[in-house]
Amino acid sequence: MDNDQVILQQSVDEIRHTFKSGVTRSVEWRKTQLRAIRKLVDEKEDVIFKILQTELGKHSVESYRDEIGVIKKSVDHALSSIDQWMSPKKGRLPLLFFPASRKILSEPLGVVLIVGSWNFPITLTLDPLIGAISAGNTVVLKPSELAPNCASFLANILPVYLDSKAIKVIEGGPEVSNQLLQYKWDKIFFTGSTKVGKIVMAAAAKHLTPVTLELGGKSPVIFDSLPVSDMKVATKRIAGGKWGSCSGQCCIGVDYLLVEQKFASTLIEQLKKTISKFYGDDVKNLRNLTKIVNKFHFDRLRNLLEVPAVAKCIVHGGSFDDTNLLIEPTILLNPPLDADIMNEEIFGPLLPIITMENIEESIDFINSKPKPLALYAFTKNENLKKRILDETSSGSVTFSDTLVQFVCDDLPFGGVGQSGFGKYHGKYSFDTFSHEKAVLERTFYFELEPRHPPWNDFKLEFLRLAYSYNYVGLVLLLLGLKKP
Ligand code: NAD
Repeated sequence: MDNDQVILQQSVDEIRHTFKSGVTRSVEWRKTQLRAIRKLVDEKEDVIFKILQTELGKHSVESYRDEIGVIKKSVDHALSSIDQWMSPKKGRLPLLFFPASRKILSEPLGVVLIVGSWNFPITLTLDPLIGAISAGNTVVLKPSELAPNCASFLANILPVYLDSKAIKVIEGGPEVSNQLLQYKWDKIFFTGSTKVGKIVMAAAAKHLTPVTLELGGKSPVIFDSLPVSDMKVATKRIAGGKWGSCSGQCCIGVDYLLVEQKFASTLIEQLKKTISKFYGDDVKNLRNLTKIVNKFHFDRLRNLLEVPAVAKCIVHGGSFDDTNLLIEPTILLNPPLDADIMNEEIFGPLLPIITMENIEESIDFINSKPKPLALYAFTKNENLKKRILDETSSGSVTFSDTLVQFVCDDLPFGGVGQSGFGKYHGKYSFDTFSHEKAVLERTFYFELEPRHPPWNDFKLEFLRLAYSYNYVGLVLLLLGLKKP
């Protein structure tokens, strides 16, 4: 074992020991840790702004909207709800077991591994951490190596604010990730690509460890005809969902857009105006745009675009600033459907627009691809909305906006099919990191003999009536007024 592996082993041993001690089960411990996260983001807000600016070129407003503000909101929600989340729940009992009491207790799963992604390096680590702590678990957090400053910040700062015997940050890339995956965890919460999600799930299967996989995919927008004033609002929201959050490097970001042929040119003109307003016209000096995380992803995006059959479909943008790793907001009209840009998750500021004769065709189009993490639709047509809900499957559906579903604590956030499974946010996070234990307690006072042999017709009728809660029938049967 080299030194790093020894540290890793010691970290895992220590948090398991802490979990076994029972300290993390108390509501006081959970609240103390949650308050400490709040204090951390309050006191280190400026430091986080600087790191996100340096690492990803995120403006402070964007960082507050997508990261710091999200964590403050999540932690406040957890603090105000945790007593209720932890309180035992009741359920109905079959009459056959009367008298008895029953409850559902949420117990912590134990020792959990959280593996994060780089695009929202604060949100995608601390948000699941809030859920894991609320549920009383101990945690190893592995942030993404592609946002190394953020990962180091978390590794250095979390032990200062949080219980370092229960919460550890381990830095590193795929190699460290793979070493961590060899351990027996009680839960793995993974945010990242579908490809790595499969590796995580295979490793978890060896120990039958439950996993939550927060993956990605191609999230479409269905754009129906709208009155001019609504269209202006809609294009702002589409631009926000494509370019406004980490330059499209966003799991629920708009991937491509479907529109009827006759509305395409109006929509494109309106999008161009919005881009100009948001980011300026000087391609050498674009403002308010996050940079592409690294050269690898910058080149990957360029390769998606520089296929001749694709490049000729560019109707706006298409310029690349190699020095600053910035890509101009780019719109393509009808790129070939077999091109990579229409089959891989774009995860960047390129927007393919696909036209169709009738917007209802968008349903078949979406259903021909893996189930997306998010589906957006801008329409006033209630019938189309119903068809979208009834006939497509996706992690979420948002009408008349993009991205905002992420910040709703009372909505489950997660994918379906290739975009992942499991869900979190608010109470869903608490449940994700808990086991709901069923507790039933009987007394010795009274025994309903019909559940035991010797069998007869009376007992059969009794069971029929008891399972269907037919009190009147039972009384009649017991009084001999009803024949078995
Ligand atoms: P990624 O899968 O490359 O990396 C995610 C994490 O896995 C990182 O911590 C990384 O160190 C680790 N990892 C990478 N390769 C590994 C391997 N071979 N074995 C074990 N661990 C490995 O993904 P990414 O580049 O960080 O993020 C982009 C993807 O994540 C996109 O598909 C995006 O849609 C998705 N994503 C999803 C969400 C969500 O909430 N659903 C959020 C952000 C990103």
